[in-house]
Amino acid sequence: MATVLIVEDNAANLKLARLVLERAGHTVLAADNAREGLAVAAEALPDIVLMDVQLPDMDGLAATTQLKSQAATRALPVVALTAFAMRGDEDRIRAAGCDGYLSKPFHYPDLLALVERLARRPDAARTP
Ligand code: MN
Repeated sequence: MATVLIVEDNAANLKLARLVLERAGHTVLAADNAREGLAVAAEALPDIVLMDVQLPDMDGLAATTQLKSQAATRALPVVALTAFAMRGDEDRIRAAGCDGYLSKPFHYPDLLALVERLARRPDAARTP
């Protein structure tokens, strides 16, 4: 099971994602803005970060770039949550350093599958 940090300012989206992940046995941490999200990521070192792209204080992709530029948080997998996934955005998302993305509204099985595929397994050997 993974510790999942959700950075999402939409309370309804956060609530649903939390419910789905907790039901699957994951532990959920949450932040509703990028600065808090970055602080929680650095302090808690979750196994995966779900990062909304549109946050009130900072672009979620800029926040991801920041996470990926810090030695302490560089290895955390980041999944962008985007309401507008189109080809150009996918390039932008990858360029920011995201490991994957999910278009909103997302299907719960897709959310769980992404988390289970990308979350770090601190107790197992990681293959590159
Ligand atoms: Mn948002």
